[in-house]
Amino acid sequence: MMNDLKQRLVDILKREGADLVRVGGVSRMTDLAVRRLLPSCRSVVCAAFRQLRGSRRGIEEGTTYYQYTTMAVETLEEVVMPMALLRACDLLEEAGFDALPQRRSQLIMAEEDSTNPEVDHSEIYRGVTGELQLDFERCAIDCGLGERGFSGSILTDDFGPFQRWVFILTDAELPEDPLVAPHLCDGCQACRRACPGHAIAADGALDRWQCAVYYVGAYRGTNPFMPPDALADDPERLAVIAGEADLTPERAREVLEQIHFYPNMKHAYMASICGKACDTACYIRLEERGVLTRRFLSPFRRRPEWRLPIEE
Ligand code: SF4
Ligand code: SF4
Repeated sequence: MMNDLKQRLVDILKREGADLVRVGGVSRMTDLAVRRLLPSCRSVVCAAFRQLRGSRRGIEEGTTYYQYTTMAVETLEEVVMPMALLRACDLLEEAGFDALPQRRSQLIMAEEDSTNPEVDHSEIYRGVTGELQLDFERCAIDCGLGERGFSGSILTDDFGPFQRWVFILTDAELPEDPLVAPHLCDGCQACRRACPGHAIAADGALDRWQCAVYYVGAYRGTNPFMPPDALADDPERLAVIAGEADLTPERAREVLEQIHFYPNMKHAYMASICGKACDTACYIRLEERGVLTRRFLSPFRRRPEWRLPIEE
């Protein structure tokens, strides 16, 4: 019976756009928030949705920038994934089970002084419901979705780092999928080298404030929208636009206020100018190594990376 329910759940999630569905039993969930959110939880269902490889094409070519944020972030997070969650939770509720949909809340953070590069830092509520926020990466691994790469991104055989995901916590005891033994990340650190703002440290730790600044394009070398007089009065102007500034959270806030050169997306998502270059670099590496199962006629990177002059 539970095999049948799981299959129907997988079918409905895939019909609604999910590419990968994995289930982990509650006993292997290492994030305490799972049990806090649903004490009767028996299973966690993870549904992952590919970020279209083509949504990064515009940033790769230096042509259009909004496709990545609208198609690979906003539409997935705000339209496709909630719809799939709703339909799948309906099915579980029809069968008499609890079903708690869990999507990322971009504007709520457990940490007191961190940030989320995808949204306006001033709109984030910090430290309010920290214990009740799922650790999305940890839970994805515990469900058997994939492995954690050096950069912190979750990597899968199908899409490398190009996916986003949601969860359902349920009291249905569904058959588990196996955990993934790490095999994709070889520690090459291409992700770290690709970051225009050096936001990933030598040990893989991410400086989220540094990331927030360069996510929205503080590095002039890859931001065609930055006017010549950008940050004109900033004491560290050259270091900032060259990607060499080491910014404290306070300085990051100051810089962020000075670098709006491209419209944000309507659900308050910041427009990504780097397009998560770290993940793109990782994807390219994995593609080069031939370890991804989804193949394309042409490689993602078709010409050397471009850079604009830092000073005109
Ligand atoms: S490449 Fe972009 S998303 Fe990745 S760490 Fe750097 S700034 Fe952040
Ligand atoms: S770029 Fe290399 S080190 Fe970074 S996550 Fe991918 S495989 Fe791992």
